[in-house]
Amino acid sequence: MRKKIVAGNWKMNLSFEEGKNLTEEIIERCSNAKKACDVIIIPSFIHLAAVHRIADGFSVKIGSQNNYINESGAFTGEISAAMLKSVGVSYGLVGHSERRTYFNEHNSLLLKKIEALIAQNIQAIFCFGEHQEDRKNKQHFKAVEEQLEILWSLSAHNFKKIILAYEPVWAIGTGKSASAEEAQEVHAFVRGLVKEKMGESAANDISILYGGSCNASNAKSIFAKPDVDGGLIGSASINIDDFMSIVKSFD
Ligand code: PEP
Repeated sequence: MRKKIVAGNWKMNLSFEEGKNLTEEIIERCSNAKKACDVIIIPSFIHLAAVHRIADGFSVKIGSQNNYINESGAFTGEISAAMLKSVGVSYGLVGHSERRTYFNEHNSLLLKKIEALIAQNIQAIFCFGEHQEDRKNKQHFKAVEEQLEILWSLSAHNFKKIILAYEPVWAIGTGKSASAEEAQEVHAFVRGLVKEKMGESAANDISILYGGSCNASNAKSIFAKPDVDGGLIGSASINIDDFMSIVKSFD
């Protein structure tokens, strides 16, 4: 079933107290108002247990920003999908451009991370998107297609646990969002690829989010496009008013 989703990626921001306060405000505002989309909070690891305690029993869901590929063991500094599951995580980001760029995460590792999440019944939010240079050279469809390639090896059953997030790298954290038309063009292309590789029902069911300087002013027009099923929000997700106004874009 194709879901409408707004997910807030807090990245490496907010103290423990600030994270708790923001979660409480999101829960309160989401509970008081009817909302037409699912809301996911994706905080840093230090916040997860507290966010879980606060959000438990409410409809707001929790996501992780990263996970390791093994289930447990001597991997100092890493966090496994099983550990994430134990603090209520039901979604996990994989392939965010900041992880690809700063931590050299490439296709074979990303596939293992996805598989580790799926083994714990955590849905992977797989991020992909072209660099400025690709778009300038009209190679953006090719760049996107190459990044998506790892997904076609998943079984039909596991593919159902995937959410896609188109995040053009030139739009992330720059204040320069893709236009609604540019987003729609890539989303439609991606849905077409899913249809070709995984079949029609997979294409109809998969949620494809847009991310990259999505904010309170542009969310409504981007989300109104037929192949855009919501947003992955970075900087605007740590401001309660901005985040809630993006969530309300679907009303
Ligand atoms: C992101 O980090 O996923 C993101 C979309 O960031 P921003 O909204 O700040 O561009």
